[in-house]
Amino acid sequence: MNVPTIVTHGGTGSKREESDGCEAAAQSGLREMTGRGDALAAVVKAVTVLEEDGRFNAGRGASLGMDGKTMSCDAAVVDSRGKLGAVANLLEVPHPVQVARAVADTPHHLVVGAGALELAKRLGLHEPYGPTEKSKAEYREQVEALRRAPAGAADGAAPDAESDAGKAMIRRLWNYPVPWGDAVNRAAHATVGAVARDAGGVFAAAASTGGSMPALLGRVADTPLPGCGTHAGPAGAIACTGIGEHILKHHLAWQVYQWIDGGMRLREAMERGMALLPEGVQVALIGITRDDTAVVSRQPMASAVAGLS
Ligand code: ASP
Repeated sequence: MNVPTIVTHGGTGSKREESDGCEAAAQSGLREMTGRGDALAAVVKAVTVLEEDGRFNAGRGASLGMDGKTMSCDAAVVDSRGKLGAVANLLEVPHPVQVARAVADTPHHLVVGAGALELAKRLGLHEPYGPTEKSKAEYREQVEALRRAPAGAADGAAPDAESDAGKAMIRRLWNYPVPWGDAVNRAAHATVGAVARDAGGVFAAAASTGGSMPALLGRVADTPLPGCGTHAGPAGAIACTGIGEHILKHHLAWQVYQWIDGGMRLREAMERGMALLPEGVQVALIGITRDDTAVVSRQPMASAVAGLS
């Protein structure tokens, strides 16, 4: 007998005190599973609630691009029956996870940019909306940090966007339609996510993000890429958050899932996965298996677990 259970998180940029938002999302997802919904419906519902919250970097709370205008979102859904849908660089849609869910029913798995926007319009999910006050304030801080970063050359390795060399590179390669001089400033990151197990033993994961900042226009990282930000299979489901460039290099969700599938305990596999990333890089994972749930994080983060006992 599988006990319907769901785990949610508010991203590495969230505060532990914001866990009430994750709790509300987890309870909504759980209600979905006690009704007619399965694990996939539950994680989509939970992430929809997190996108609506406004405190987390996803959906209505998505961070502003460095031009102070663009709010570009990525999202993904996956389940252990093989459902897989994702969107990237999606604009003007407060619930990208619902477009990702719709993609999972098409012949495709990933739809991006203008095509994703047109698809959202066809689905009735297009709704232009503005940044929250929090996103605007973070944006101003970020632009200021970008402006202040010294021009110094990188040492040959590709720099992290958060480093001085990375910021200087973003300033130099500025590819936003507005001139750099018109950008006010900003930087933020976080993703919301959920993993669930339903009474039928199906596992699902979903994630949604406004992306990490600072970033060049068009940047996409782990969240919508299969096996990077999320993975689900017969042994469980995993969702990641943190600096996506580091997560995708390790196909982190897929890698951790492989260890679980091989018999490793969930928490041990998640901690081992987290340790693959360089020290100091923000990262967190949530996971679920047949008999366990876990949240591991390098920094305090909002999260919640809800299950029927
Ligand atoms: N992984 C997301 C990204 O890099 C952001 C996050 O989870 O903090 O786009």
